[in-house]
Amino acid sequence: MASTDQLTVVDPVTRFPDITPPQQDQSEPGLDADLIPGTDRGEDSYRGTGRLEGRKALITGADSGIGAAVAIAFAREGADVAMNYLPQEQEDAEHVADVIEQAGRRAILLPGDLVDADVCRQLVEDAVAQLGGLDALVNNAGRQIAVESLEDLEEEQWMTTYEVNIHAMYRITKAALKHLSAGSTIVNTTSVQAYEPSTTLIDYASTKAAINNFSKGIAQQLAPKGIRVNAVAPGPIWTPLQVSDGQPKEALPHFGKNTPLGRAGQPTELAPAYVFLTSPESSYVLGETLHVNGGMPTP
Ligand code: NAD
Ligand code: MG
Repeated sequence: MASTDQLTVVDPVTRFPDITPPQQDQSEPGLDADLIPGTDRGEDSYRGTGRLEGRKALITGADSGIGAAVAIAFAREGADVAMNYLPQEQEDAEHVADVIEQAGRRAILLPGDLVDADVCRQLVEDAVAQLGGLDALVNNAGRQIAVESLEDLEEEQWMTTYEVNIHAMYRITKAALKHLSAGSTIVNTTSVQAYEPSTTLIDYASTKAAINNFSKGIAQQLAPKGIRVNAVAPGPIWTPLQVSDGQPKEALPHFGKNTPLGRAGQPTELAPAYVFLTSPESSYVLGETLHVNGGMPTP
């Protein structure tokens, strides 16, 4: 989509088109391959500058959307990448793996459902074995299903949202710790929803507030070991999450238009935040939440 790289000075209002997505529906988890309009994950534009040379990264939800953009950027910055995603997302994952390999880096495909505690733990071991170590973790997988009222928010949805967004992050982070040495980094994906919860996203938004809080607490605990933990809080970003019941259907054409920039963000616009927080250049940045949200005010 973008013809210029992320280091070229352009007007952020018009860097990407102001999209008006048609109403559409995909079953959960949704595919980038079927999204209308398609998204920009940086395939044709992200320019690496050697900031993650030789790093070994595990990224969850790396098949599509923000995770895919982060995986592509990490590879172009010099990292090998282990990718977790759901088995139904193999098509999206293989596309991202191709882009990583074209950058001359290794892409390790590790599909698995993070609702399963054993899968979370095994994922870390498989990533470590195949990468030959681990020094960068990005907890990015997330589940978002809009429900109009608390009366309709079923126990099963509440539990599954917390399993994927919170319990998996705890399990993966805990399993990764014994492999992480000084200089390693963890970046968690929270949301503007942590501060401004939508009425339709009570379960999801509360997990995002918890992710933010977890990140700030664990950052202090791990700081003396030289392991830095931070978070990124995206605003409205056009990804498959939104069309697999993440938003009420009638909201899709207006998606992202209420931001000061007046448009939805593209996944590749998130990548530099994750690169910065993973790169050694952010050595004095810990427990921070970097907001990438088109200008929506945050606390
Ligand atoms: P996405 O659908 O492309 O990515 C979410 C990924 O989560 C999926 O690709 C899937 O692989 C993974 N996932 C979901 N359930 C899983 C499970 N049970 N097991 C394993 N993996 C599972 O959408 P995205 O918008 O790029 O989402 C990435 C992160 O960004 C999420 O944490 C989301 O909450 C967060 N976020 C997105 C937005 C936005 O507007 N798109 C805004 C704020 C935060
Ligand atoms: Mg996906």
